[in-house]
Amino acid sequence: MDDTTSKLAFDTDWQYDPAPESTDHVRVDDQYELFIGGEFVAPKEGRYFDSINPANEQVLARIASAGKDDVDRAVKAARKAYETSWSKLKPAERGKYIYRIARVIQERAREFSVIESLDGGKPIRESRDIDIPLAAAHFFYYAGWADKLEYAFPGKQVAALGVAGQIIPWNFPLLMAAWKIAPALACGNTVVLKPAETTPLTALKLAEVIRDAGLPPGVVNIVTGAGDTGAALVDHPDIDKIAFTGSTAVGRLIQNSQAGTSTIYTLELGGKAANIVFDDAAIDQAVEGIVNGIFFNQGHVCCAGSRLLVQESVADEVVQKLKDRMETLIVGDPLDKNTDIGAINSAAQLEKIESYLQLGQDEGGEMYQASGSVPERGYWCRPTLFTGVSQSNRVVQEEIFGPVLAVQTFRTEQEGLDKANNTPYGLSGGVWTDKGAKIFRIAQGLRAGVIWANTFNKFDPASPFGGYKESGVGHEGGLHGLDAYVSLA
Ligand code: NAP
Ligand code: MG
Repeated sequence: MDDTTSKLAFDTDWQYDPAPESTDHVRVDDQYELFIGGEFVAPKEGRYFDSINPANEQVLARIASAGKDDVDRAVKAARKAYETSWSKLKPAERGKYIYRIARVIQERAREFSVIESLDGGKPIRESRDIDIPLAAAHFFYYAGWADKLEYAFPGKQVAALGVAGQIIPWNFPLLMAAWKIAPALACGNTVVLKPAETTPLTALKLAEVIRDAGLPPGVVNIVTGAGDTGAALVDHPDIDKIAFTGSTAVGRLIQNSQAGTSTIYTLELGGKAANIVFDDAAIDQAVEGIVNGIFFNQGHVCCAGSRLLVQESVADEVVQKLKDRMETLIVGDPLDKNTDIGAINSAAQLEKIESYLQLGQDEGGEMYQASGSVPERGYWCRPTLFTGVSQSNRVVQEEIFGPVLAVQTFRTEQEGLDKANNTPYGLSGGVWTDKGAKIFRIAQGLRAGVIWANTFNKFDPASPFGGYKESGVGHEGGLHGLDAYVSLA
C-alpha cells in the first residue's frame, strides 16, 4: 500500500450499508378497538386517537379511547370471568393457557419485534433480542408457578385477589404487559390492562394472541386510552389490586387516591441509577457497560445508569474512552439492524430531554454530544454527557429518561457510595471493580433494589425487580412477583 492509499483508508468515514428488518410479515390494521370480554368492541363515546411512528411522525393506526363506561364494562367482564371461570379452573389448567400465550409470542416474535420498534422507536436489535424474548420468558416462567403456589408459600393458604387493574408505560410496552399479566393470571386473578397512549400496538396484538389462545372471555381485557383512562381504572370501586409502572408523579397520585381503601397496590416508578467505576475495574468493559446502561433504548429505561461515578485517578481515561465510543454509536432508523439509538418515543419526551440539556448547561455543566447526523424527520437525540456537574444539579438529581449521562468523580469508596445514594430514587445501581469484597461492600451500602456488578441492565424472569424510596412500592418478577397477586392465610 502506498502512502496515499493508507491515508485514504484511514480518513474514510466508514458507513455501514443500511440493513433494514423486513416489514413484509407484519400486519398493522388502520383501526383498533378495545378488547373487552374476549372480543374487540368500539368505545362507547366513539373517541379515537392516533398512534404514530416516532421515527417518521406518520400515523400507524387509530386507537380506541376508553371512557369511564368502557373501563366499567372491562372491570365487569373481568369480575364475571373471575367468578365464573378463571377462579374455578384447576391451577394446572391456568398454567396451560399461560404456556400457550408464551409459545405464540415466541412463534410470532419477529412480528412483535417489528411492531414494537415501529410504534415506540426502539432499535430492532433491542426489541428482537431483549423485549420480545423476555416477554415470552415471563409467560413461561409464571406458567410454571400456576400449579405450584403452595410450594411458593409453604404452610399458607393461597388465594387470588380478584380483579387486577394494571397500567404500564411506553418504554417496554410488551415486556411490561408480560410483567403484569403473567403473574396475575398464574395466581388466579383476572386483568384489565391499560397500555401507554404512545405504544398501544403490541398490547393489542397480545389481545389477539390471548383470544386465539382460547382464554375464557374477560380473563384479560385491554383498554387503550390516555391518562384519564388510567385514572378511571385506578378509581374503579371494583378493583382489588392496582399494579402501576410509570412516573413517580403519577405513582404519588395513585397512592393518594388509594389512601383509606382496601385496594392493594404495587408501584414501579422512576430511577436515577449510578454506575460506580473503581480504578481497578476492567476499563474497556466498564465503558461498554456504561454505554449499554444509558444509551441503550435511548435512555428510556427506569433502571438506566444515568449517572456515572468514576474514581478520580481513572476519570480522564474513562471519559475519553466514553466519548470515543459515543462517536461510533449510530442514531437513526429503529428498523435498521445496525442502529444503536432509535427514536425518542414522542415529541413531548424529546422536548423534556432538550429542556434538561439546556438546564444542564445553565447550571454550569459542560455538555458533550456525539457529532453524528440524525434523520430530519422524527424525534432524535444524540448521546450526550455532562461533566463538571455537582450533586445539587438537577441533571444529577432528576430523571431525564433520555440518552443523557451525568458524570461525577469520587476519591474513596465511602464518597462514591454517599454520592450514589444521594438521590430521591433507589431503583438500581452498578459497580465496576476487580475486587469481589468491594462488590459486596458496595452492594450492601447502595440503597437500591437491583445491583449489577461488572455488567448492567441484565434481566431474568426469576429475579425480583423493585426499588427503594421514590422508586416504588413492592416487587415484580421472580417469586417476589407472586406475592403481589395473592392473599395468604
Ligand atoms: P407516566 O406518565 O406515569 O405514565 C405511565 C402510565 O400511566 C401510562 O399508561 C399513562 O397513560 C398512565 N397515566 C397517566 N396519568 C395517569 C393517572 N392520573 N392515573 C392513572 N394512570 C395514568 O409515565 P411515562 O412517562 O409513561 O413512563 C416513564 C416513567 O415510567 C419513568 O419515570 C420511568 O422511570 C418509569 N418506569 C418505571 C419502571 C419500573 O419498573 N420502576 C419501568 C418502566 C418505566 P398515558 O400513556 O396515556 O399518559
Ligand atoms: Mg406510537
